[in-house]
Amino acid sequence: MLENMEQFDYEKVIEEFEELTKDVGRVQIETLKWILEENREAEYLQNLGLNGRTDPESFKACVPLVTHKDLESYIQRIADGDDSPILTGKPITTISLSSGTTQGRPKFVPFNEELMRTTIRIYETSFAFRNREFPVGNGKALQLIYSSKQFKTKGGLAAGTATTNVFRSQQFKKTLESIRSQCCSPDEVIFGPDFHQSLYCHLLCGLIYRDEVELVSSTFAHSIVFAFRTFEQVWEELCDDIRTGVLSNRIAVPSIRTALSKLLKPNPELADLIHNKCSGLSNWYGLIPELFPNVKYIYGIMTGSMEPYLKKLRHYAGGLPLLSSDYGSSEGWIAANVNPRLPPESATFAVLPDIGYFEFIPLREKEDQSLDITAVSYSFTEAEPIGLAEVKIGEEYEIILTNFAGLYRYRLGDVVKVVGFHNSTPELQFVCRRNLLLNINIDKNTEKDLQLAVETAGKLLLEEKVEVIDFTSHVDLSTDPGHYVIFWELSNGVSDAQILNECCNCLDRSFVDAGYVSSRKVNGIGALELRVVRRGTFQKILDHYLGLGSAVSQFKTPRCVGQSNNTVLQILCNNVVNKYFSTAFC
Ligand code: AMP
Repeated sequence: MLENMEQFDYEKVIEEFEELTKDVGRVQIETLKWILEENREAEYLQNLGLNGRTDPESFKACVPLVTHKDLESYIQRIADGDDSPILTGKPITTISLSSGTTQGRPKFVPFNEELMRTTIRIYETSFAFRNREFPVGNGKALQLIYSSKQFKTKGGLAAGTATTNVFRSQQFKKTLESIRSQCCSPDEVIFGPDFHQSLYCHLLCGLIYRDEVELVSSTFAHSIVFAFRTFEQVWEELCDDIRTGVLSNRIAVPSIRTALSKLLKPNPELADLIHNKCSGLSNWYGLIPELFPNVKYIYGIMTGSMEPYLKKLRHYAGGLPLLSSDYGSSEGWIAANVNPRLPPESATFAVLPDIGYFEFIPLREKEDQSLDITAVSYSFTEAEPIGLAEVKIGEEYEIILTNFAGLYRYRLGDVVKVVGFHNSTPELQFVCRRNLLLNINIDKNTEKDLQLAVETAGKLLLEEKVEVIDFTSHVDLSTDPGHYVIFWELSNGVSDAQILNECCNCLDRSFVDAGYVSSRKVNGIGALELRVVRRGTFQKILDHYLGLGSAVSQFKTPRCVGQSNNTVLQILCNNVVNKYFSTAFC
């Protein structure tokens, strides 16, 4: 383990990665062997009759593909305190809560030292490549990170989000200290019980150290945008705190107050400087470099469901580079961004072949030219999964994960595209979650389709200087025929109702999937409905998930809210201010 800054040799990390990725087929066979030997005692594997065999062929013949649902009873026994070898050889002592925003509730997944080890590997690898292109020194990082509430399961195991388990690890802390600028905020802020108070203090600590801040980061880009939107509301109060050296009354948590009192001293010059800078900005463009003049880049996951926040992030970032971080999940890491210069929209992730055993289900694209448009949709005929060394450039796959923490042939539910190779390891792009978001009959629309439709329709608001702050969708089957409902939260009111009618028509026309278009034409799917919700509605949704144990650090707005996710649907429906119905297909 790396003990201090001097010992982090990024050239060596890069060399090791280059070596490791030369023959991924061989590395995968060794990795699978290692996983199966470590866990040979696990009841799950024993019951499947592997009998100690560790080769890929026997593994695939004996072990079925599974989803989280198939493993729930095993994970529940672990959480309830059964410490026999159930999924892993050594007992699992910690549980991670995945964000569960897609399903509406967090899921339990096993967490262990091995996952910690792979987390560190991923961080070190991408940092080494990043630091070669964008070197940072011994300054500070404004890290907009938050822990979730930690609790004990019925069986006494510590449970919290994966990011919380990672942030709490001493081993991880040491790694961060050795490879990266130190966090501006004390631990009391990161682990504070109230996210809104922590966010205010993160901003305050960042401003206190403004000249030293070299990078602004978070796990997911949503947290960065959320933080600077909040800054727009509270900047004068922050300046007051700095001017007087007295922390705002909004911070009520004693441990945070104590920690901040050690940092906050009256500094009228700094307060005036920040006040002048903020007053001089036009619509907050370039806010981040204005506040933190030595920032080199902004860093976090910016792909997939984070893409809709990029426009606002770029606005705050002025010309600063946006660097997208790695690809993984609570269930396990997969790949590191080793091409940090690529813009987030084209970010790629190179698979680390020794942190898990990876399989890929080919998703054949289907061209439907029976109608007047060409549409692409995922074929649902299951093809056999193939290995890491067998994937092809240009193809899309559903990813299957086998890791060191008790998941074997686990369907993560993500679709990825192979866009190149780094030596022999594939470079992936994240495409979307596999489950369809919007589907009434023969229509098939994914998260990406929704994002593109919202982007196109949102352009009609530009002249009004209004932006879509956040959005989600719902399939309403209570009408006959059923129809799509799109919820928008807007930055300001729109005076001209005609514009929102046009947005609604544009949304309807922007779903170009052939199944949708043909169903709309024959009224198999009803007119699309756009519902505009009050300012702050999406924050209420975030607060709801935090109440369930999620952490802001892992929050992803659910892009489709089903009937089963009743509380969120109620929040949305109770906050509707206007509704519009499409006339696009009349
Ligand atoms: P969680 O349930 O909070 O562990 O979130 C894991 C999920 O977040 C993954 O299965 C992906 O769908 C998404 N995700 C993680 N990393 C990325 C990334 N770099 N780009 C896009 N989506 C990601």
